[in-house]
Amino acid sequence: MRVGIVGLGLIGGSLGLALRSRSAARTDSTRNYTILGVSRRSQVCQQAIAIGAADEASVNFDCLATADVVILCTPIAAIEPTVRSLLPHLKSTTVLTDVGSVKASIVETIAPLWPNFVGGHPMAGKAESGLDVAEADLFVQKPYVLTPIDSTPPEAIAIVTEIAKAVGAIVYECEPEAHDRAVAWISHLPVMVSASLIRACLSEPDATIQNLAQKLASSGFRDASRVGGGVPELGVMMACYNQAALRQALLIYRDRLDEMIDCVDRADWDAIEALLTETQAARPRFLQED
Ligand code: NAP
Repeated sequence: MRVGIVGLGLIGGSLGLALRSRSAARTDSTRNYTILGVSRRSQVCQQAIAIGAADEASVNFDCLATADVVILCTPIAAIEPTVRSLLPHLKSTTVLTDVGSVKASIVETIAPLWPNFVGGHPMAGKAESGLDVAEADLFVQKPYVLTPIDSTPPEAIAIVTEIAKAVGAIVYECEPEAHDRAVAWISHLPVMVSASLIRACLSEPDATIQNLAQKLASSGFRDASRVGGGVPELGVMMACYNQAALRQALLIYRDRLDEMIDCVDRADWDAIEALLTETQAARPRFLQED
């Protein structure tokens, strides 16, 4: 299968590495993937070929004329303009998919332009971006959400499902709006909460105390602050393209914080213990670890 990847950054590069390493380890029962990369920079094209993320790479879309599938791996804001420039270069049977972290607005915009479009979101990432940090195992055992709509051809869903499985991911299907509400809770809210935690710590007025806190910060703070220290553009995209669901999640989170403040104000340690006992039991269930 000839797979085009547009945007050779962290996600695009990792998909290329994963699919090519799958082809390298090919047995008769697995499919061979040829990766056609597209970047805006020729230096990135050369790098993609050199590290094994693409078989061929180009700065223009002509190379995608023979692609069976094209995966859009640009930032969300670039998806629509990229698709509009790309479509004249594709054969009519080409399946188009994307990896954007929000789905409703993308599916609403792209599906009318290309009926063979399947919205997708691999739930794997890193704080860093770019091809330098791409890795073949990024998607292994991670969820990969597909958001087909009523008009999506079943054959297109089957092809994108096959690709997601080939990179080692676990495939889920849901409606685009359901995806956006769910990721508001477990992806977008955590980024905003973690960023607010970092900002709260920086609000300590006494420089000596803040300095001491920095020295004492260990694994707990490292874990809780990780997603708030990521690439700003991703957080902005989450807020911009998933505004309603994120706002709702933030308001409910603020209610939970107010409950905690109220307990502290009343020195109600039993109530705090009850809350923490509830969350201690709920976390493994939420993460389906038990
Ligand atoms: P990234 O490392 O910055 O890669 C994006 C690539 O897109 C860049 O390397 C760039 O490649 C290209 N690009 C940037 N601006 C562009 C523009 N205006 N027009 C066309 N191409 C452009 O970002 P990423 O983390 O891989 O994210 C890419 C997509 O994956 C986003 O839609 C994001 O929502 C989604 N996603 C990210 C994560 C995550 O944790 N990072 C997880 C799941 C999904 P060239 O400069 O070489 O052209």
